[in-house]
Amino acid sequence: MPAKGKHRRPKSQGFARTIVVAGVGGAALALPLLGATGAHAATPAAAHSVVKTAPAAAKTYAVKGGDTLSKIAAAQNVSGGWKKLYSDNRSAVGDNPSLIHPGLKLTIGQKAAAPVTQASAPKAATGAGYTLPVQSASIGTAYKTAGSMWSSGYHTGVDFVVPTGTPIKAIAAGTVVSAGLDGAYGNEVVIQHADGKYSQYAHMSSLSVSSGQAVTVGQQLGLSGATGNVTGPHLHFEIRTTPNYGSDVDPAAYLRAHGVSL
Ligand SMILES: [Zn+2]
Repeated sequence: MPAKGKHRRPKSQGFARTIVVAGVGGAALALPLLGATGAHAATPAAAHSVVKTAPAAAKTYAVKGGDTLSKIAAAQNVSGGWKKLYSDNRSAVGDNPSLIHPGLKLTIGQKAAAPVTQASAPKAATGAGYTLPVQSASIGTAYKTAGSMWSSGYHTGVDFVVPTGTPIKAIAAGTVVSAGLDGAYGNEVVIQHADGKYSQYAHMSSLSVSSGQAVTVGQQLGLSGATGNVTGPHLHFEIRTTPNYGSDVDPAAYLRAHGVSL
């Protein structure tokens, strides 16, 4: 696309006329263009996509009585002929290239872009990508608390004190690598994340995911409980460098490093 017109405002004449072409067809192509100059003209996302992809050099032609695509293509020196003209205006013309109506506006000289696909999601939608495994809870036993009750000599995770039946959520998107009974951990879910780290959720009363399943951030994994070796209901939560016991790192520090406050 030529640099000229790159910063043309959405309401400029050239662009507005292009809109009309797309609007006639009413197909998928037309809707985002109309949206850009319509009700959503003020939204940053719409304005952004328009600036980037507005067909700057396109000119429009209003069909007159007696016109055909081939006649217009010849008169306007469209390289590629009527077929190019038709494909560039496919949504406006419709299924039958021999049926064009007087007043129909065609884009000539440049294929009408599809700015929709270029529009980026609002920043807020991406977020930090991390969340707490339980909505609100106090921390019972902190990470690395020493004690003979743990086989490693210290607590390998952090305990969130929640009553049985509390929804447990994936702290980030990932893939479930195991979901089921695991000895002292009771019902347990382990998820692998994009950074190579694993999160573990233990003592759950029920599981709603299975091994191999992809999960999104905040997706419910099941309900908290008191299965396995526990003295009361809570969520035992670990961050590991492998799927296995003994590769734990500080879970609270990990969550904080990803913008989660606890
Ligand atoms: Zn624990």
